[in-house]
Amino acid sequence: MDEIVTTISTLHQVTPAGVRRGPRPGRLCDMRQSRYDAVVVGGGHNGLVAAAYLARAGRSVLVLERLGHVGGCTVSAAMFPGVDARLSRYSYLVSLLPDSIVRDLRLRFEVRQRRIASYTPADGSGLLVNNTDPGRSAASFAAVTGSDADWRAWQDFYAATGRLAQRLFPTMTEPLRSRAQLREIVADDATWDRLIERPLGDTLQRAFRHDAVRGVVLTDAVVGTFARATEPSLRQNRCLLYHVIGNGTGAWHVPAGGMGALTTALAGAAREAGACIRTGAEAVRIDPEGEVIYRAGDTEYTVGAAHILANVAPATLARLLGEDGGGEPPEGSQLKINMVLSRLPRLRDAATDPRDAFAGTFHINEGYANLESAHTEAANGGIPALPPCEVYCHTLTDRSILGDDLAATGAHTLTVFGLHMPARLFRDHPDEARKRALDATLRSVNSVLAEPIEEGLLRDRDGQPCIEAKTPADLEDELGLPGGHIFHGDLAWPFAEESDEVGSWGAQTRHPRVLICGAGARRGGGVSGIGGHNAAMAILRPRG
Ligand SMILES: Cc1cc2nc3c(=O)[nH]c(=O)nc-3n(C[C@H](O)[C@H](O)[C@H](O)COP(=O)(O)OP(=O)(O)OC[C@H]3O[C@@H](n4cnc5c(N)ncnc54)[C@H](O)[C@@H]3O)c2cc1C
Repeated sequence: MDEIVTTISTLHQVTPAGVRRGPRPGRLCDMRQSRYDAVVVGGGHNGLVAAAYLARAGRSVLVLERLGHVGGCTVSAAMFPGVDARLSRYSYLVSLLPDSIVRDLRLRFEVRQRRIASYTPADGSGLLVNNTDPGRSAASFAAVTGSDADWRAWQDFYAATGRLAQRLFPTMTEPLRSRAQLREIVADDATWDRLIERPLGDTLQRAFRHDAVRGVVLTDAVVGTFARATEPSLRQNRCLLYHVIGNGTGAWHVPAGGMGALTTALAGAAREAGACIRTGAEAVRIDPEGEVIYRAGDTEYTVGAAHILANVAPATLARLLGEDGGGEPPEGSQLKINMVLSRLPRLRDAATDPRDAFAGTFHINEGYANLESAHTEAANGGIPALPPCEVYCHTLTDRSILGDDLAATGAHTLTVFGLHMPARLFRDHPDEARKRALDATLRSVNSVLAEPIEEGLLRDRDGQPCIEAKTPADLEDELGLPGGHIFHGDLAWPFAEESDEVGSWGAQTRHPRVLICGAGARRGGGVSGIGGHNAAMAILRPRG
């Protein structure tokens, strides 16, 4: 238990205006109402956060979710018949969820710190970033890079992102600042320039010498984001920024009980406060004057709302409003693989214990040069020959997602996240392309193992190996993510880019009654609840 970072607290002193403290006085959900203070379209974790804040403030709330369950990208599932393992099927690590949201909503939800931050095989050994033993990390950097220089540069780089995180993250749940105001709050021009003004590739090439070290940093900039390191759009910089600021440290944690535990806690908080949640209810049209038309079974319903909160992606909201979304359509860029293994595989690097390598983020073929060449191959229409990918093992940190019998064996769950797999590669022949992407990614994984990963796969009740792969096209079909984009669209800077945005909550649309409360809001994206919190605050505290 001592590894558990407890994020439940009853000591929270700061109460956002309009949010009731303490046990709810018991408004009851009434599904028969024809009008609500707020209708939330989509029951992802952000929609549930918004619903919980609004209901706790005494507003009547209806959440409409198209699937038969809530959670969206934030769910656990026992997807292999007869195998008692509940995997975080889509998202799997938590960094951006502010502790303040957990406290405000009194969530029974915990995260656990990982012993190892990351392991990266390179040059016959590997970089091991140990969260508790910096001496071991330094030795591994020296062994791979041949000097102390990159370890020192690494410490400087992450000390700088840590200082930036401490100043920037608290602003994520406050009204938007202008660029200049936020820069002043950060009060570190050198770091601001390196992360926010200049393409990340330039920064990495100046800061680090070794390809593997540059690559490890770069991975956080291209998760789900099809970008080059030096791209002038700076989408890669924005993606990195969201990976290094969570809760003022940027540390990524394992959700105890899996991602479904967060959704269960949020849905419980929303319901307890009186919000109504209707699953199997798909919004088919939104009238910006305050009506949502939705379908449940064969019947179409109309419900009125003082405010409509869109937990769906901005491109989906535009479709529901009958508008042109404008700009480039979103395009996700990843392959997600879930597996259950009877045991962890052995590594080619025999000096590293697999329990260390798999305890953190296990980077495979994610050197800077390979990330860039994989991007080129994918941009030219091909699945990368050696896909860069990273592996996570939930069960080395938290075995509670396994049933007792399975937990008593050496079984482990593994997630592989393949990078630079843009949706365009899967459009024409989705099944064939999925198979090719899966085969290529497993080849990439096996290139650093002493035995093929497939040999360790458990078999389900029907004798099938416990492995599934999700392409961007699959995510679009299953979760309604346009283009399979895991952040609902490319991440935005966490400051106002238009002068009329300053002081707003970053949730507004051009329709006063319609707000964005999901990942596609400015400062949404990732498992954070920030999109939901900020949209609720736009209603409860419109002037900040
Ligand atoms: C494979 C994958 C891995 C990821 N890994 C991580 C990770 O480890 N850590 C992290 O921080 N982030 C991760 N992310 C990103 C993160 O999960 C998402 O950005 C975030 O969870 C989005 O939450 P949301 O509540 O805004 O939207 P969603 O979770 O997308 O929920 C939107 C909901 O709206 C519903 N909906 C859609 N259309 C309609 C309609 N017309 N009517 C009614 N309901 C509708 C959907 O069914 C869905 O339930 C990952 C995402 C994916 C897909």
